[in-house]
Amino acid sequence: MNFCSDNVAGASPEIVQALSDANRGPTMPYGDDPLTERAIGRLRELFETDAEVLFLATGSSANALALAVMTPPYGSVYCHPESHVNVDECGAPEFFSGGAKLVPVLGANGKLTPDALEMAITGAGVVHHTQPATVSVTQVTEAGTLYTLDELRAIADICKRHGLKLHMDGARFANAVDALDCSPADVSHRLGVDALTFGATKNGALCAEAVLFFDRELAREAGYRRKRAGHLFSKMRFLSAQFYAYLEDDLWRWNARHANAMAKRLAEGLLEIEGVLFEYPVEANELFPRLPLPLIEGLLKEGFLFYRWEPEGTLVRMVTAFDTDPAHIEAFLDTARRIAG
Ligand SMILES: *Cc1c(COP(=O)(O)O)cnc(C)c1O
Repeated sequence: MNFCSDNVAGASPEIVQALSDANRGPTMPYGDDPLTERAIGRLRELFETDAEVLFLATGSSANALALAVMTPPYGSVYCHPESHVNVDECGAPEFFSGGAKLVPVLGANGKLTPDALEMAITGAGVVHHTQPATVSVTQVTEAGTLYTLDELRAIADICKRHGLKLHMDGARFANAVDALDCSPADVSHRLGVDALTFGATKNGALCAEAVLFFDRELAREAGYRRKRAGHLFSKMRFLSAQFYAYLEDDLWRWNARHANAMAKRLAEGLLEIEGVLFEYPVEANELFPRLPLPLIEGLLKEGFLFYRWEPEGTLVRMVTAFDTDPAHIEAFLDTARRIAG
């Protein structure tokens, strides 16, 4: 039973079926096909706006491409120190942008704060300094928490005041939308987000991410940058098919709802065990409990998989997915209770 991440899961049967359906007959390459057009149409309906859309196969390429389009090589990208773009993309945002500087902005629970952001934005017009260009926030955050709409609005206001672009890394955007019980538009362009990386891979696709440019002017060079980076897929229909199925009958939402519900059940069960504390509030499908060391070791010995988030420490990370079996949650909790005595 594997709770390491939501990408340990396979793909939704609906999406696998859509790939098989898309496999019939010839169709034009590089996105010049009817299925790609329909998938983009569906995304525009879902987000209630005429965004430019690019499909990619990894979240890192999607983030790096979006940031490269928004940020000049001499620009600053403000992001949380623990953000995926800062620590988990091997320098791809810097590489794709031709050298933009990522500037960490602190805040508790994985969220950069408006005050810290305001303080970090310096150097505009000074030839020696990188120039303030872009803010990148992650929703759901790397701590499994959510920015509230008010928090995002405050960040967007700062962006507007300083003339900065706002990027959102939505690798788990569906989980956020479901947990916040709002519309995708409400958490993105209506708040002032200029570009969104909308992930599907972790929530039921095989490998499909979309970048939505709500600021269409930004999208002008994105196509060239995607090709130059080697990320323009010739058989694009297979990425588009995944997105088409992901949006059909709100599969994205049901998948996210299940993952979030499983996390809630797991968190409630863990809290009943003596000595368990949560490092961050559980607000979507990621959990960061601190467990007594004998409990960690006992659970690992019983074959349960999860990440230890500190080399020798008590912090672990557990993630639930669209296909998490409720019986696995109960088995984990039963075993944890037994070991805890
Ligand atoms: C998983 C993830 C991504 C995308 O990662 P890839 O491995 O490149 O697909 C981006 N941002 C966050 C916050 C993630 O968790």
